[in-house]
Amino acid sequence: MEVAFRGVVGVADAGDITSPVQQLLDEVHARIGQITDGRVATYIPPLGKADPSLFGLALATRDGHVYEAGDTGVPFTIQSVSKPFVYALALHDRGLNTVLRKVGVEPTGEGFDAIRLEAGTGRPLNPMVNAGAIVVGSLVDGGDWGRRFQRILDGLSAFAGRDLSIDHEVLASEERTGDHNRAIGYLLRNAGTLDGSVDEAVKVYFMACSTLVTARDLAVMAMTLSSGGVNPLTGRRVVGTDTTEHVMAVMATSGTYDFAGEWLLRSGLPAKSGVAGGLVAVLPSQLGIGVFSPPLDRRGTSVRAIAACQELSLRFGLHLMRPVTGTMSAIHRYLRGDAVSSRRSRRFAEREILRLGGRAIALCELQGDLGFASTDIAVRAITGDHDGVRWLILDLHRVVRAEPVAVNLLDALVRELREHGVTMVVSAVDGRSPLASAEAAFASLDEALEWCEDALVAETLLAETGPAAEADRAEAVPLPEQDVLRDLPADMLDVLTPLFAERRLAPGEVLFDVRDEPDESLYFVISGGLVAQVMQGEPAEPVQVASMGPGTAVTKLTLRRDDPRTYRIVADEPTVCQVLTGAALKRLEADRPQVVEALHWAMARSLAARLRRADQLLAAHVASAPRSGTPPRD
Ligand code: GLN
Repeated sequence: MEVAFRGVVGVADAGDITSPVQQLLDEVHARIGQITDGRVATYIPPLGKADPSLFGLALATRDGHVYEAGDTGVPFTIQSVSKPFVYALALHDRGLNTVLRKVGVEPTGEGFDAIRLEAGTGRPLNPMVNAGAIVVGSLVDGGDWGRRFQRILDGLSAFAGRDLSIDHEVLASEERTGDHNRAIGYLLRNAGTLDGSVDEAVKVYFMACSTLVTARDLAVMAMTLSSGGVNPLTGRRVVGTDTTEHVMAVMATSGTYDFAGEWLLRSGLPAKSGVAGGLVAVLPSQLGIGVFSPPLDRRGTSVRAIAACQELSLRFGLHLMRPVTGTMSAIHRYLRGDAVSSRRSRRFAEREILRLGGRAIALCELQGDLGFASTDIAVRAITGDHDGVRWLILDLHRVVRAEPVAVNLLDALVRELREHGVTMVVSAVDGRSPLASAEAAFASLDEALEWCEDALVAETLLAETGPAAEADRAEAVPLPEQDVLRDLPADMLDVLTPLFAERRLAPGEVLFDVRDEPDESLYFVISGGLVAQVMQGEPAEPVQVASMGPGTAVTKLTLRRDDPRTYRIVADEPTVCQVLTGAALKRLEADRPQVVEALHWAMARSLAARLRRADQLLAAHVASAPRSGTPPRD
């Protein structure tokens, strides 16, 4: 039976596959969006005009990917979310000790606008409340207030990775209604903490608060802090890693004012909120979150932002105090089926199908510690390269530990892939898959590959030649269609055929083993299948090292008698072989030497074809160097 191969059938849906992270973000956004509690701030009148239904949720990763749900592109004033970033700039410009002499780092246990300075020193308690932020702004480099503010705007822009601007209406309104902040300024100057003009210091503070950002900007700014000061989009370093450590520590203890303790306990994410409804949250070295939703709780923090962060933390296992899991790519290797194949010996037609259509099989070997960040990178690599993939093998043998969030993301990926016509199978230690949704689980990568190859072969044959051919394939490959014999001239085949003897094997029956005398006998698999096994381990158990399907041949000459391990060829299922014994070959050699010679050449050709294939696989294999995540650009 000849197969005219015309390409893989039923090509996978090439439409975009939604990352499970995006799906979860959308889900969280939809659910939290239903919350209608809270009130939009009105003490700065233009803020009162904000649409309370706006809600944007963005999540930036270490390698610069930004997931977005809802109104992530709507600009609003950053307000107090500027405080940790301006603090970072002051620390960068003046050093920790100078800044510490002016502004403390103890939680206030009071609101953002508390009028309270530390007894004895006259310092504001921390830089996350207005008093601290007014002093911090005055510490940033620049000879006068104008240049100082330009330095702040440039710094905030560097954190965001784009040029930011000011909302002049909000700025004018803050100045008009800013007596409370001015009062704080006078108190600071009276205590000797603030040098120079109160009006100018407060003006710089108001300008920083009036900077326009989006939820997407906030996610990138947060990720820049989280990654130690390098913007994940531009690759530019904004501040040093020591500085970001200090800033995130203060965000953890004071970022949410008098709610900081419970906030850190529940969400585990250092954060900072603002009265326009913005919020940043960070998970050091893993991700940055930006949220925008105007209605606030009585403390001045966005109600939906709090709920969204707590839910994301819970769903993704993001707590700061969780043991650290991998932050780089979890992908050890990603290959397509044209660069790797199982150890099954296949006849010509099947090999052709796999050679031409092998890219329909993808193999992804994961490794290490699977947490949110590492799994996210792996999942994106898979969803980003699914063109033409119909079967995906996820190999978990190198995975040391998987957080529940990793299992959830991978399970969601299985379901999403299935919708796009991709079947996912798992290979894992002892065939135990943690993924409930996977189609099948195997103890070895080889078995998983063989399974996918069988599926590809079966589907292709079914489509190319109809159900009869597929059934025929499963049944038998008669002698004239055997790999070795198919090119032999008909008259020679006529001489050979009567010399064959049939041999039937039950499943598990041994065809021959290492104790046999090697001879030249040839065994052609007509139907069923054989496997080559070695005995390994204590107690010894058979391990499959190769398998041979219908159309392929084995010889006892492959036995290695110097190999101390027991090596044997066993029937995998009810199997029929045609045997040309060594004795029969010897007799033929005497009668018709040219037939034996032709047979030897046919065997050599078949072997050479296999070696060529092995060589191609090796070359493709070497070309596919292990992938890793994008290293941080310092
Ligand atoms: N500009 C606002 C103020 O000083 C910022 C307050 C805030 O966002 N918590 O009142």
